[in-house]
Amino acid sequence: MTKKTPPVIELRGLTKLYGIGDAEHHALDAIDLTIEKGEFITIMGPSGCGKTTLLNILGLLDRSDDGEYLLDGTSVETLSGARHARIRSQQIGIVFQSFNLINRLTVIENVALPLTYRGMYRTKRLMMASDILKSFHLSEREYYMPWQLSGGQMQRVAIARALVNNPSIILADEPTGNLDSKSSHIVMEELSDLHKRGNTIVMVTHNPNLTTYASRVIHMLDGKIASDTKTPVIPEDKNKKVPLGSRKTTKAAPKKTTKPRKKKQAKK
Ligand code: ADP
Ligand code: MG
Repeated sequence: MTKKTPPVIELRGLTKLYGIGDAEHHALDAIDLTIEKGEFITIMGPSGCGKTTLLNILGLLDRSDDGEYLLDGTSVETLSGARHARIRSQQIGIVFQSFNLINRLTVIENVALPLTYRGMYRTKRLMMASDILKSFHLSEREYYMPWQLSGGQMQRVAIARALVNNPSIILADEPTGNLDSKSSHIVMEELSDLHKRGNTIVMVTHNPNLTTYASRVIHMLDGKIASDTKTPVIPEDKNKKVPLGSRKTTKAAPKKTTKPRKKKQAKK
């Protein structure tokens, strides 16, 4: 008998407390959540409801105070710090609202950075970084410094850096929060492509329009899940497999459409 593969992420009674005594409060209040491989989840909710806390715990940047976090069926509590670091560098890609690029490094060095922890030679690291920047149509910017880029370009560099290790889980905390609508659209198309290629994405957003990209929308309130809704998958994109090197980044401003998801045009 074949064993059923466990969910990518399973949370049971996950709790995070801040403050002590009178000031103690639940940033996360006994969250139960199961995420299957290939889901694109958006998390919404008012400021302070625990979205970032949740994402940081999922990304192994922070620990819970109670409850269980199973990653691919294994409790992360049982894993060593070194194992956490390895998971962070190989399995999980994290994108932040504020890009978090390192200002004294060039674009290509920023993107190559996660590979350093793998003990890979510099030439090989730069080649891999260059490849992924090419797929993001950022080749001409390789030797720019971060401050020479637009906000949209910076976030795409940050996404390229999160993806250089080919992670299967992408966590994004308001990735378009600092971007104009055109740049937001380009970034969302990138995330949408990643989803279509079978990756699992969890994205926090304030923008209800962006939930159209998701297969599931979760609303949080006061450290709890207030609602959890599956949204329909669009059939026309179902069989579309786009290789990394041929992704389309739309240059034009997004057209207004009533369709729930933008139709991707074939490149070339
Ligand atoms: P969101 O991302 O939804 O705006 P956060 O996860 O950042 O919310 O915060 C959830 C709650 O936890 C808030 O009440 C916030 O003030 C509190 N909090 C977050 N980080 C810390 C911290 N490092 N120390 C104390 N309280 C914190
Ligand atoms: Mg936040």
